[in-house]
Amino acid sequence: MSIKPARTRVAPSPTGHMHLATARVALYDYLLARKTGGQYILRIEDTDLKRTVPGAEQEIFDGLRWLGLQYDEGPDIGGKYGPYRQTERREIYQHYAKVLIDNGSAYPCFCAPDHLEKTRQEQMKRKENPHYDGTCRALAPDEAARRVANGEKYTVRYKMPRDGVTIAHDHLRGDIVTENKQLNDYVLLKSDGLPTYHLASVVDDHEMEITHVLRGSEWLGTFPLHVNIVRAFGWEEPTWVHLSVFLKPSGKGKLSKRDTTIAMTDGYSVFIKDMNDLGFTPEGINNWIALMGWGVAEDDIITTDQMIERFSIDSLTASPAAINFQKLDHFNATHIRLMTTGDLAARLKPYYAREGLDVDDDVLLKIIPLIRERLVTLDDCISFGGFFFKENVTPAPEELIAKGLDAKQSAEIARKSYEILSALDNINHATAEPPMRAYVESSGLNINQIFGIVRVAVTGQKVSPPLFESMEVIGREKCLQRMRNAVEILEKI
Ligand code: GLU
Repeated sequence: MSIKPARTRVAPSPTGHMHLATARVALYDYLLARKTGGQYILRIEDTDLKRTVPGAEQEIFDGLRWLGLQYDEGPDIGGKYGPYRQTERREIYQHYAKVLIDNGSAYPCFCAPDHLEKTRQEQMKRKENPHYDGTCRALAPDEAARRVANGEKYTVRYKMPRDGVTIAHDHLRGDIVTENKQLNDYVLLKSDGLPTYHLASVVDDHEMEITHVLRGSEWLGTFPLHVNIVRAFGWEEPTWVHLSVFLKPSGKGKLSKRDTTIAMTDGYSVFIKDMNDLGFTPEGINNWIALMGWGVAEDDIITTDQMIERFSIDSLTASPAAINFQKLDHFNATHIRLMTTGDLAARLKPYYAREGLDVDDDVLLKIIPLIRERLVTLDDCISFGGFFFKENVTPAPEELIAKGLDAKQSAEIARKSYEILSALDNINHATAEPPMRAYVESSGLNINQIFGIVRVAVTGQKVSPPLFESMEVIGREKCLQRMRNAVEILEKI
């Protein structure tokens, strides 16, 4: 059976930081396009000039590339259906608004904002849902045309049928039946000549030959309107897929894209721009968001290539997806373990650089097997392995004192350990562990007391990768120097 190539689009508005909801749409769009040999495009919906934020568009370009979701057409790369920024397509929308007026599906509205506001207030007082009162709907077309020609300010409104129902078909939810009298005469074109989302998205999806519209379920409310507009043009409808809503991490309540309160709390964020700084990988994020709304098995570790193989809009789900940052940790850590050593090394380097640490590539390759299993986020490489790249470490004096012992006894252990280690030509797992273990046995102390002091002395921290392997990487001279330093610290207490 041959599959028709899909054309999909992610259509963010550049009104704030790129949210993971946008990343999820982009991922599914990408998967569907790749799976079917089609194209996935980026369209910037920037017609709400008041809400446009400088830099937001660039953040979307960068965010999608960082995630590995490179679009096939878009504002910064072009394509044969361009322009891909809605503010550059004004004439197209004006043309189509006129088509709707001419075929009787829309009308110019000359009502002034204060009239609209007054009616709105009155309707609210009467406990009605605010809706347009229809003043200009009643104007004769030639009268309306005369006023337009006279240069009066106007908007264009959709002439929603008053009777009957609209049946809109969503791929995940089936037929959604709405009584037309519940629907408003929505504005399609604003008085500044720019379209609203309703007109612009329908026109662009048609002009750009989009086959599948995947978008957030916040658009379900105006979905019947969009379907009406498509039909008023006599166009073929795309397959509509309204994705599941995101719930807040608590599981209680919807997470709105504008809700920024959970951003950057406790080392997590909902904004793609923060993810790299926090040490998350594109593989981990894609895996995480893929499963929020797609019914492949929970806890499935999956690469983007495997996703392409398995993807189908039939297995997307309409049930809400709670943001679960612990799962993100799990996916991130697992993908870190799946990386090649060379790849992981290249990804860790910037985190060391950020801490001002000068990384020796050979050392980095040697420590990866020691720290890899411990990394949940890439920046964990600092807490587990920053000491490998420091000239000196500065252990906290109290951490050098072993449990159950005092400073004097601990100093004695440090001295003795130094003696044992300095007698070796080479310090590594094979040479250093046997004499140190023999010392533990002869001392009658427990292993954690002795190895703990040595660990804090040479790594500067209580938790580290395996001790003797770490010492081997640090090298004999530095280890001995750090042991001498520890003895001095302990003697001063
Ligand atoms: N510009 C809309 C938004 O950012 C896009 C919705 C859509 O994908 O059609 O929510």
